[in-house]
Amino acid sequence: MAEFPHLLAPLDLGFVTLPNRVLMGSMHSGLEERGDWGAVAEFYATRARGGVALMVTGGMAPNPEGGVFAGAAGLFSADDIANHRLVTGRVHAAGGRIAMQILHAGRYAYGPGCVSASAVKSPISPFVPLALDEAGIETQIAAIVTAAVRAREAGYDGVEIMGSEGYFLNQFLVRHVNQRTDRWGGSFANRMRLPVEVVRRVRAAVGPDFIVIYRISLSDLVPDGSTWDEVVELAQAVQAAGASLLNSGIGWHESRVPTIATSVPRAAFADLTGRLRRAVTIPVIASNRINAPEVAERILAGGLADMVSMARPFLADPEFVIKAASGRAAEIAPCIACNQACLDHTFSGKLASCLVNPRACHETELVYGPALVPKRVAVVGGGPAGLMCARVAAMRGHRVVLYERAAKLGGQLNLAKVVPGKEEFHGLVRWLSDEVARLGVALRLGVAATPDDLRGFDAVVVATGVRPRDPGIAGQGGANVLSYIEVLTGAPVGRRVAVIGAGGIGFDVAEYLVQTGASPTLDVARWRREWGMGDPALVPGGLALGGPEPEAAAREVTLLQRKAEKPGRALGKTTGWIHRAALAAKGVRMIGGVAYRRITPAGLEISRDGQPEVLALDTVVLCAGQVSERSLADALTAAGIAHHVIGGAEVATELDAKRAIDQAARLAAQL
Ligand code: NAP
Ligand code: SF4
Repeated sequence: MAEFPHLLAPLDLGFVTLPNRVLMGSMHSGLEERGDWGAVAEFYATRARGGVALMVTGGMAPNPEGGVFAGAAGLFSADDIANHRLVTGRVHAAGGRIAMQILHAGRYAYGPGCVSASAVKSPISPFVPLALDEAGIETQIAAIVTAAVRAREAGYDGVEIMGSEGYFLNQFLVRHVNQRTDRWGGSFANRMRLPVEVVRRVRAAVGPDFIVIYRISLSDLVPDGSTWDEVVELAQAVQAAGASLLNSGIGWHESRVPTIATSVPRAAFADLTGRLRRAVTIPVIASNRINAPEVAERILAGGLADMVSMARPFLADPEFVIKAASGRAAEIAPCIACNQACLDHTFSGKLASCLVNPRACHETELVYGPALVPKRVAVVGGGPAGLMCARVAAMRGHRVVLYERAAKLGGQLNLAKVVPGKEEFHGLVRWLSDEVARLGVALRLGVAATPDDLRGFDAVVVATGVRPRDPGIAGQGGANVLSYIEVLTGAPVGRRVAVIGAGGIGFDVAEYLVQTGASPTLDVARWRREWGMGDPALVPGGLALGGPEPEAAAREVTLLQRKAEKPGRALGKTTGWIHRAALAAKGVRMIGGVAYRRITPAGLEISRDGQPEVLALDTVVLCAGQVSERSLADALTAAGIAHHVIGGAEVATELDAKRAIDQAARLAAQL
C-alpha cells in the first residue's frame, strides 16, 4: 500500500479526473510583470512535471482598477492571451493542469483609483476606495466574467475566483465595509449577491466542463467579519451557482492574527475546512501551513478536506508529489514558512524565490547541469552556505569533501531551531544533512580544516560563517554576561534580562527567553488563545471575545539598540509585525536610542537622550551582530591556495540564510 493513499487518490470532478489531491495554491511570483513569459511557462511546467494535480496561477487582475498594484498582470488583450497560451501549452505538454486566479483587489488595490462596496478605507492602505454605483458593480462583474472567458481561450483548465483574504468580493460580504442600502448591501442575501452573481455568470459563460474554484473566507479574523452561518450560506449559494470546488481562505490581509508565518502551527485551520465540508457537497480544499505529505495525508484521512492546497512548498520543491509518491518523501525540500525569499520579495517589488530553493522563479537562469569535468571540491563549513554548496556540487557530479569544525552539521541554523516558533528549522537542518549524505559527500566532522588539508583539491570553498561581534562594552567579561550562542545552547539565564542588540537574533533570543514550557506553535489551542483567535460560529469574524490571552512571560526582558528608531524595523517585511507583537504581548520593553556605559554585577548602565539610567538585571545577553570568520580564508591566501569565500565568511552584515544559500547554489552551479 502506498505511503500516502489519500493524498495520491484521484479526484473525479465529473468532467475531469484529477490524478491526486494536491493543488498548488496561488502565489505571486513577479515573473509575469517582467514580461518573461518563457520563464513563467518554465516555472509552471517544472511543477507540472513534479506531479501536482492542479496549479493555480498568481492573481490576475480582471481590469486595471482591480489590480493589486499599478501594472499588475492580467488578461487584457490578444497579446496577453498569446502569452498565457505559452504557459498553458507547456503545462499541458508536461502532463499538468492549471487554473488562472482572477483577483480583484477592491480597496486593497494600491492606488487612488481603487473601488469597493462603500468608501471605507482599509487600515493597511492609504487610499479611500470609490463606492461603486450599480453600473460600476455591473462593470466589475463583466470584467471578471470576461477574464474567465479569456482564461478558457488561453487554454486554462479553469479559474479560481478570489473571494477571500479581504479582497473585493469579500469586502461586499461584511457590514463594516459594505454600508450600502441598495440590493448589494444590507441583508446577507444582498451582501452576498456580488460573489454569487460572479460565480453564476462565470459558470454560464465558460460552460459546464471548466473548473471553477471559489476561494471562500472561512474566518476573516477581523472585527465584525462574517459569521459562520453566513459562510455556510455563501458556500451553498456559490455551489448552487456552479462552483466546482471551494478553496479555504483564512484571515484578511489586515488581520492581526498570523495565518501563514512559520510560528503558525501546521494545518492550524484545517478544522474549519472540515466544518465547511459537512455543509456542502462539492469538494473542499484545505489550506495554510500544510508543508509535508504526512500533514496533508492526515487532513485528508481525517475527513477534513477533499484536497489540500500548498503554495510555498512548491517553491521549495517542485517535485513534492513525485517524491511523496515514490517513497522519497524524506527528500522533499521543506518550506520553512519564513517568507524571506517569497512574500517578503513580492511585497518589496522583487522577483519571488525561495530560501531553500534558489532556483524557484529562476528556473531558466540558474541551472544545475552535469559538470563537464568532475572535480575534487572541498567545502569548509557545514552551515547553510556550505551544505547547499556541497549539495549542488555533488548533484552535478563533483566529488565533494565537506569539513565542519563542530561535531554536527547545520551551523547557525542549529541556533534558530531552538527558538519558539522556528521549529521548522529542524526540518531544514535534517534535509540539508540528509541530502549531502545521500549524494555521497564525504563528511569530515569535528575537523578544523587547515591549508595543508585543502592543498590538492581542484576547488576550495570557504563557508566558515561568522562569529559574534565584540561590542566592547565595559564590564562585558562579567559572570552575568552571556553571548546569544551560550543562551541558545542552554546556559542558565536569570529572571531580569537585557538583550543588547535588536536585530533578527536579538528578537529571537528575546522570544526564547520569555517563553515558558513548550512552544505554542506545537499546540494549536494554546496558539489560538495567545493570538486571540476564536470561533466564527461564536463571534463574527472569528476573533476571540476577550482578545489575545498571552501566557505570562518566563522573564522580564528589555531589548535594546543604539539606533533611535523603533526596534525591529529591519525584520522581514511580512513577519516583522508578528515578532514585535509577540514580544509586546509578553511585556518585553523595546528601547531604541540608548548608549551603553557599562555592565556591573547589578545590571546595565545606559544613557538615553544624555540621561543616565541604571537597569537592575540578573543577566545581559550580547546580540550585537556578527563579523566574518575569515581566518581560514586569510591563511589560504597567505599559502597561495585559490579559493572562493561565500556566505557570512564573505560578508557578515545583513547576513541571512537566504543570501548564504543563494550564493552557495550559484557558485556550485558554476564549479
Ligand atoms: P543584525 O541584524 O545586524 O543586528 C545587530 C544588532 O546589534 C543591531 O540591533 C545593532 O543595533 C546592534 N549592534 C551592532 N553593533 C553593535 C555594537 N558595536 N554594540 C552594541 N550593539 C551593536 O544582526 P543579528 O541580529 O546578529 O542577525 C544577523 C542576521 O541574521 C540578520 O541580518 C538577520 O537577517 C538574520 N536573522 C534573521 C532572522 C529573521 O527572523 N529573519 C532571525 C535571526 C537572524 P545598533 O547598532 O542600533 O545598536
Ligand atoms: Fe517557504 Fe521560506 Fe521558501 Fe518562502 S522562502 S517558499 S516561506 S522556505
